[in-house]
Amino acid sequence: MPASRTIIVAGAGIGGLTASLALAARGFRVIVLEKTERLEEAGAGLQLSPNASRVLIGLGLGDRLAQRAVAPDAVTVMSARSGRAVVRLPLGNAAAARAGAPYWVIHRADLQSALEAEVVAHPSIDLRLGCRFEDFASDARGITVGHRRRTERKHEQALALIGADGIWSTVRGQLFPSTQPRFSGLIAWRGTVDARALPRADLRAGVQLWMGPQAHLVVYPISGGRRINLVAIVADDWHREGWSAPGEAHEIKNRFAAAGWASSARDMIGAVESWKRWALFAMPDGGIWTAGATALLGDASHGMLPFAAQGAGMAIEDAAVLAQCLGDSHGANAAGDALSVPASLQRYAQARRARVARVQRLARQNGKIYHLTGPMALARDLAMQALGGERLLARQGWVYDWRP
Ligand SMILES: Cc1cc2nc3c(=O)[nH]c(=O)nc-3n(C[C@H](O)[C@H](O)[C@H](O)COP(=O)(O)OP(=O)(O)OC[C@H]3O[C@@H](n4cnc5c(N)ncnc54)[C@H](O)[C@@H]3O)c2cc1C
Repeated sequence: MPASRTIIVAGAGIGGLTASLALAARGFRVIVLEKTERLEEAGAGLQLSPNASRVLIGLGLGDRLAQRAVAPDAVTVMSARSGRAVVRLPLGNAAAARAGAPYWVIHRADLQSALEAEVVAHPSIDLRLGCRFEDFASDARGITVGHRRRTERKHEQALALIGADGIWSTVRGQLFPSTQPRFSGLIAWRGTVDARALPRADLRAGVQLWMGPQAHLVVYPISGGRRINLVAIVADDWHREGWSAPGEAHEIKNRFAAAGWASSARDMIGAVESWKRWALFAMPDGGIWTAGATALLGDASHGMLPFAAQGAGMAIEDAAVLAQCLGDSHGANAAGDALSVPASLQRYAQARRARVARVQRLARQNGKIYHLTGPMALARDLAMQALGGERLLARQGWVYDWRP
């Protein structure tokens, strides 16, 4: 297939792999450059709400994912101090039927490998592992991308370049060098436990969100319910890049000390054998996502705090909209030429910007609410109880009901 129908995607994370499938479905040839030799499991669990699962099902991943995901029956908001439920937001079959797509929790490696299997099987996608995007140059015919495998440097011609290379994006560094992620002052600790070590039925069936003083804890089943995923968020000034620094168990146990946290929460923290931690960085709201025939997608454009559980969801939505915008003017039966690619990419950014900024605000606001202390925390719990789980869930409707 000629360069005029080729799109290069830098980065084979959740966003890049989804984008390559969505673009290939619109008739493009896609080259995906991934710097790592193997797609590794970064992090552990991931929540996929209906706005994201709907896109993945539309791309043919439904059966593969359903085998590995868990559909939680509820999100239960817990009080760290009392150890009791504050409110229960019902998910399960009724909510999935209403949304027209499931709410899933899944091991990140399961999602990544399902996407990779689909990508590898697709005749129009060329996934190049161990191949690092380095730089690009544009001219009237499109883009020339420079990439490197070990010592060997090569060039590739394409219609467009999509930077799906994560929050420390090299593509963004070349396009907009002054736009940088900012450290939030918070870090995430992640660990998993064999579900048999925490034999409580409620942990296998749903998501628990524990709100405590200046910290919170999210717990849910992954790997078909065989393991429990824990994410603990605390304030800290440690802020190294990367997803996989080891964390000392005694340090996180001390942070969840008896004074503020019920024994049932501390028991779960104590059951984790090994912890990984990563500093939470976020991109400023409303940055620029596109220039000429190049566009950013996912964390590269809008890496956000994980407190709305929507970072991957927004990357997946981006992928669907990007493919739609490029497909409408340059897809299998469209007449667009290289000169009109920038306008298609502008349409993509335009279509995404306001919604993503709203989700970024929601994530920040959730973080503040979860970490309240003293009387403010009490008032929050009473307000949540008064509102009730159904209505709290309905408030997420604008996030979950999104359709491409
Ligand atoms: C604690 C925590 C919990 C989270 N929980 C959720 C959740 O429940 N639900 C949710 O939706 N989101 C969640 N997220 C957010 C989600 O993980 C990210 O938003 C998502 O992974 C972003 O995907 P991406 O494809 O944009 O970037 P990434 O997943 O970072 O992928 C980028 C890829 O690009 C590659 N790359 C980088 N540079 C180059 C280069 N120069 N050349 C080639 N390849 C390159 C990298 O190796 C990587 O494979 C969470 C995040 C955190 C920190």
